[in-house]
Amino acid sequence: MFDVLIIGGGVSGISCALILGSAKKKPFVADKKIGIFTHQKSSNLQEALFNNAYGIPAGTLGSDLLPQSTQQLQDQYPHISQIENEKVIRIEGFAGNFTVVTNKNSYLTKAIVVAVNSSQTFAIEGLMHYVIPHKKSIPEKNRFQLENTDHLVAEGIYVAGTLAGWRSQLAIAAGSGASVATDILTLWNDGNQTHAHDSIR
Ligand SMILES: Cc1cc2nc3c(=O)[nH]c(=O)nc-3n(C[C@H](O)[C@H](O)[C@H](O)COP(=O)(O)OP(=O)(O)OC[C@H]3O[C@@H](n4cnc5c(N)ncnc54)[C@H](O)[C@@H]3O)c2cc1C
Repeated sequence: MFDVLIIGGGVSGISCALILGSAKKKPFVADKKIGIFTHQKSSNLQEALFNNAYGIPAGTLGSDLLPQSTQQLQDQYPHISQIENEKVIRIEGFAGNFTVVTNKNSYLTKAIVVAVNSSQTFAIEGLMHYVIPHKKSIPEKNRFQLENTDHLVAEGIYVAGTLAGWRSQLAIAAGSGASVATDILTLWNDGNQTHAHDSIR
């Protein structure tokens, strides 16, 4: 049983995983089992070129960021399970006891973060009743989001990145994933506000 499973290995999903991973030293995180589906075939990053994203050298290809980000997650936070090459097709159950079904396996988890982008091909059974037209994209693009309040879709279900209704910019998607991570950390900390910092001090 995972405590949280992140669905999507793009910008918002990996950002969420990095921050959850970095909080490992906190006592309320030490016993938590965290996983991420690092499916990347349909990431917006595949065709992107970045000259305007904070902290990323101009000229960086999104297709290079994809493997670099999973490698960073593995190197820094190997306790996070990376589940490769599996596509989530269905969610069943309720908060505290979800089953996430992929094209190959199924997994139990207490909570999920959906970070699969706002593409019109969104088709995860069990979440379709939360789908609404994207509020910050032009109608011609036919984008979707999950209805949410501050990233929370329903108890135990978070959404991050463009699928949360944010505009499509790398920095916004990364911030959205980070925001969800700190919400989950705060929940695990009995509702007391928290975040995860490293420091040279
Ligand atoms: C051509 C192009 C150029 C761009 N240029 C810029 C730019 O110059 N500056 C900028 O700031 N932004 C740019 N962007 C936008 C930026 O790439 C996106 O805003 C960002 O990637 C969105 O992050 P996300 O986490 O919402 O989705 P993504 O990064 O797309 O991640 C979604 C992940 O979910 C996975 N996934 C999908 N379905 C499933 C499933 N069923 N099960 C498991 N995993 C699944 C995908 O494979 C992917 O890895 C560009 C985008 C494109 C397409």
